[in-house]
Amino acid sequence: MSDRIRAALEPVAAELRGSLTYGQDLAPIAWFRVGGPAEALFQPADEADLARFLSVLPADVPVTVIGLGSNLLIRDGGLDGVVVRLSMRGFGAVTLEDGLVTVGAATPDKRFSEEMARADIEGFAFYNGIPGGIGGALRMNAGANGAETRDRLVSVRAIGRDGQVHTLSAEDMGHTYRHSAAPADLIFVSATYRAEPGDHDAIRAAMREVTEHRERAQPIREKTGGSTFKNPEGARAWELIDHAGCRGLVIGDAQVSEKHCNFLINRGAASAHDLELLGETVRARVLETSQVRLSWEIKRLGRWTPGTEITEFLGR
Ligand SMILES: Cc1cc2nc3c(=O)[nH]c(=O)nc-3n(C[C@H](O)[C@H](O)[C@H](O)COP(=O)(O)OP(=O)(O)OC[C@H]3O[C@@H](n4cnc5c(N)ncnc54)[C@H](O)[C@@H]3O)c2cc1C
Repeated sequence: MSDRIRAALEPVAAELRGSLTYGQDLAPIAWFRVGGPAEALFQPADEADLARFLSVLPADVPVTVIGLGSNLLIRDGGLDGVVVRLSMRGFGAVTLEDGLVTVGAATPDKRFSEEMARADIEGFAFYNGIPGGIGGALRMNAGANGAETRDRLVSVRAIGRDGQVHTLSAEDMGHTYRHSAAPADLIFVSATYRAEPGDHDAIRAAMREVTEHRERAQPIREKTGGSTFKNPEGARAWELIDHAGCRGLVIGDAQVSEKHCNFLINRGAASAHDLELLGETVRARVLETSQVRLSWEIKRLGRWTPGTEITEFLGR
């Protein structure tokens, strides 16, 4: 396939201003530090470059966008087709105007939160503790401390698989708990939120509260993907996992965190296979002990290496 991608892009290669590489290892990009290579990796210079690239890429080449890799388990066999990753240079602007703030999708949540605090704009302190970028926050409806991405969202600008620009209203994003119903092939390039002035000291206190809570409750210095499973209706995933006796459980070099048992951690030499097998083992044990089918919050992407396929709930 990569020969086909090269051949299709050959006539426009000189026009593209971003960087296009083949076979690049994705593990260093992902928080878990696991995962195989991308067949092709495109980092567009800006929105026009991304649109041009997508418009010439044959429609049957799969495209996957990744952000800061804090909610991803990239499988060891890597990703077929093209992986798109937005850079701060082309997609990192923050513009505050007329009661609205527009932020580029590559902007880290934490940086956006700090910028809003400096401008005494309230409502974005929760982003101070989320290690992803705005694009990932829009796809996941990222949230914490009682606030979510959708709360102040006005609209989102996106590029479709065919290179066309789309504008989505907050309603079009179809946000529910850690989910967006927006078409899966859209690449979000920026978001516009309501920007409301708040009390300087209250915003600072909220920012501190968010970081202190994380330090206390989460293994934030580990190689992890954050909360592994969504909280089921009326229950907490970590309690079900604890009840199933999975706190501290180890497979290969992957472990269920002792500190917060809805977090999986790579102790150093784990493979994506170790982590996914551990996750499915946890799901199978929770199903046995509580009759609850946990859903993955972490997005699992890519191919297993042949012979290492894993069945959901280990086939139970
Ligand atoms: C220590 C730790 C703590 C965490 N705490 C929280 C928390 O409190 N609350 C919370 O909600 N999450 C939390 N997370 C999970 C994660 O940070 C969020 O889901 C975050 O929003 C993911 O953003 P990302 O840029 O890393 O996206 P990635 O992990 O790279 O991707 C996640 C998904 O978003 C899609 N995506 C990324 N960029 C774009 C784009 N530009 N356009 C379209 N789709 C895109 C990807 O295709 C993928 O489906 C935590 C993770 C860690 C490691």
